[in-house]
Amino acid sequence: MKTTAQVVVIGGGVVGCSVLYHLTKKGWSDVMLLERDQLTSGSTWHAAGGFHTLNGDPNVAMLQSYTVGLYKELEEISGQSCGLHLSAGIMLADTPERLEFLKTTVAKGRYLGMATEIISVQEAKTYFPFIEDQHFIGALLDPNEGHLDPSGTTYAYAKAAKLGGATIEVQTKAESLEQKPNGTWRVITNKGVVECEHVVNAGGLWAREVGRMVGIELPVLAMEHMYLVTDEIPEIGEYNRSTGKDIAHVIDFGAECYLRQEGKGIVLGAYEKACVPWSPKTTPWSFGQELLQPDLDRIALSLEVAFRHFPRLENAGIKRVINGPFTFAPDGNPLVGPVRGRTNFWSACGVMAGFSQGGGVGLALSNWMVDGDPGFDIWGMDVARYGDWATRTFTNAKVRENYSRRFSIRFPNEELPAGRPLQTTPLYDTFLAQGAVMGDSWGMETPLWFAPPGEKAEDIVSFHRSNDFEPIKAECLAVREAVGVTEIANFAKYEITGAGAEAWLLQVMTNTMPKQGRLMLTPMLNHQGKIIGDFTVAKAAEHRYMMWGSSQAQVNHMRWFEQTLPKDGSVKIEALGMKLIGLSIAGPNARALLQRLTDDDVLNEAFKFMDYREMEVATVKAQVNRVTYTGDLGYEIWVAPEYQRRLYGSIQAAGADLGLKNFGMRALLCLRLEKNFGTWYREFRPIYGPFEAGLDRFIKLDKPDFIGRAAAIKEKQDGPKRQRVFMVVDALDADVMGDEPIWVDGKVAGWVTSGGFGHFVNQSLAQGYLPTELVKPGVQLEIEILGERRPARLQMDPPFDPEAKRMRM
Ligand SMILES: Cc1cc2nc3c(=O)[nH]c(=O)nc-3n(C[C@H](O)[C@H](O)[C@H](O)COP(=O)(O)OP(=O)(O)OC[C@H]3O[C@@H](n4cnc5c(N)ncnc54)[C@H](O)[C@@H]3O)c2cc1C
Repeated sequence: MKTTAQVVVIGGGVVGCSVLYHLTKKGWSDVMLLERDQLTSGSTWHAAGGFHTLNGDPNVAMLQSYTVGLYKELEEISGQSCGLHLSAGIMLADTPERLEFLKTTVAKGRYLGMATEIISVQEAKTYFPFIEDQHFIGALLDPNEGHLDPSGTTYAYAKAAKLGGATIEVQTKAESLEQKPNGTWRVITNKGVVECEHVVNAGGLWAREVGRMVGIELPVLAMEHMYLVTDEIPEIGEYNRSTGKDIAHVIDFGAECYLRQEGKGIVLGAYEKACVPWSPKTTPWSFGQELLQPDLDRIALSLEVAFRHFPRLENAGIKRVINGPFTFAPDGNPLVGPVRGRTNFWSACGVMAGFSQGGGVGLALSNWMVDGDPGFDIWGMDVARYGDWATRTFTNAKVRENYSRRFSIRFPNEELPAGRPLQTTPLYDTFLAQGAVMGDSWGMETPLWFAPPGEKAEDIVSFHRSNDFEPIKAECLAVREAVGVTEIANFAKYEITGAGAEAWLLQVMTNTMPKQGRLMLTPMLNHQGKIIGDFTVAKAAEHRYMMWGSSQAQVNHMRWFEQTLPKDGSVKIEALGMKLIGLSIAGPNARALLQRLTDDDVLNEAFKFMDYREMEVATVKAQVNRVTYTGDLGYEIWVAPEYQRRLYGSIQAAGADLGLKNFGMRALLCLRLEKNFGTWYREFRPIYGPFEAGLDRFIKLDKPDFIGRAAAIKEKQDGPKRQRVFMVVDALDADVMGDEPIWVDGKVAGWVTSGGFGHFVNQSLAQGYLPTELVKPGVQLEIEILGERRPARLQMDPPFDPEAKRMRM
């Protein structure tokens, strides 16, 4: 066995082999894979082998598309058959809501170039002849679905990797990992030690254990999963003969099951509500190519419904039942990328759909390792999307919820309950008592909206405007016409100190840094000149800065910050988490309210827009930013958590006669929309450059070099190919949710990033991206909402306060 390698990949399942292949494809040939048993001996060997391109996150869907397109290439390079059957797939809708969901799925797929379409039940029967019509009202057809041979595919990756120079050692278990002071790794195996620069955790069922070797607890859990294979059904052979095709892959949401052809029989797998985790604490190393005891009672409910929906299957006879474990992250998407705090330790695990996602995971990870960037927006599968709060038992609760809802609709206004409430602020009970409907914001409970007295504080989930519409309107109007208060504890907050703080900030951020006592908004770019962050920075003192950003991105950002900090220790950065929590007051009466709570002068001349000040508010030491995301006159007041109740109580008492009202996160998002403010993860993501995102005024190309400057200069010189746009939509009773296609002249020309209803301006609003040549007044747009193209128009100025006077008043 070799004793050195540039990369050691731990795990010879489909994911590890894909990573290995993609590394060789990128030109790294000194790469080595260690497999403790034989290739495929984790989850891979007993997979049902189905693949599809659809995913709730369009960027993950694109990587799935890549995976499916890869198999032909793999067969050609390796000479190994993947056993491909491109049978097409249909998803059957049994309720109007399900059909709406499928229509939104088709719409999302349009701008990604996916060829999905809605078809009738009659047409669906031409793909899957066993359908009993009366139970369904329509279907989605995806021509890019099918199934393959899991083992053949894994060996195809492995062979192709070997042809590229990789080595594979089977019966070789990585037993422990040691990092040397110079950052390189020692992989201690049962056959000796391998020294390497990079380690990839593709441990699948044992990914947690491999993570524990470097002291981390990855949020992954294996679940038992069952599918059965029926005896031969003669009609299948007849169908194959008469059509020359395989029977299509089917998802039956009502029965919560999937079906596909296997030989001349059918595979039927179910995601049961009463699902069962496997080995929740630790995966035994002794587990080999084994199956678990089947328990058909657990999926009896699915079978009962499926047999009603496809009666022919009931008498087919069961040839075998498979029960095997495979892993999930809390949201069901993979955990990919560099692990924060562990130099050159990479994650490629939590892949629940290895045959849809394995190729994309390998591509993204190899790009990241070789080029320093995944090359795509893989935000939805970045290992850094979870914080320390995603513990093993939290993961258990969330994975079970996710598994049991695998075929359930997630409505745009739906909050899922498992593992909650997790983090709460001191005001949690107070807000609940006031009718707050809470939502989860990166593990923290955050008020979304407040139900009026006498009304149930609960969302009625829907794709249409729902019961929160009128209460949110009242909250928005209170802000615009008087004053509102909202909790903003869920922002990420950072403190940056040290003699090198300013120089470092200037290097990682695109804007100049503020003078002491002032605030500055600044994007952050990667080396490719794409947006990877969006922050508010305050200079609190000489060598001390405060900074606010998106909580969701906190681990991702800290990973980036720590990589870019000077090695001489001249800068320190701390993510403050719950050490600093905030309330924001906004609206024309906000100043009067603040003045009642402080003896500092907060008149406009003394405390200007974009000022930062440390002062006492309601007798409490506070840091106050004169800025709000509402686009109105307002303040963010940040205090230590032990003072938050006092601050809130004082605001309530002092604001009573000023028209004060609570407002929640949903109202805040509507208010920012009226000002055309973008949000991180929707308008600002690593697929966009700063000029196409309309952030020109925050990009100071004339300051000394900063990360991404060269690429930004190029973007500016070439002229952005697309632009962020703001639109007014002629919506009916459903506003955009995000990811809807924008049509121009009968073609899909762009996409929506976010939207909703602007209650003060009384318009349905949307933001999105369009090719630059189409961004001109008068262009006729249509936005596809729930399957219907609704007219929309470009709006060049925000409808609320286009001259930005309110923020400065
Ligand atoms: C019943 C069932 C049906 C499924 N159906 C489908 C389907 O239709 N479509 C689909 O896409 N997916 C399906 N899956 C899921 C699919 O199996 C997984 O997504 C995929 O196998 C994950 O691959 P992996 O490489 O991440 O993990 P694994 O297959 O678990 O591979 C990990 C490998 O790492 C090795 N390893 C771990 N630790 C070490 C160590 N310390 N040293 C050396 N080697 C180590 C293990 O021995 C193992 O071989 C199904 C799963 C099950 C159980």
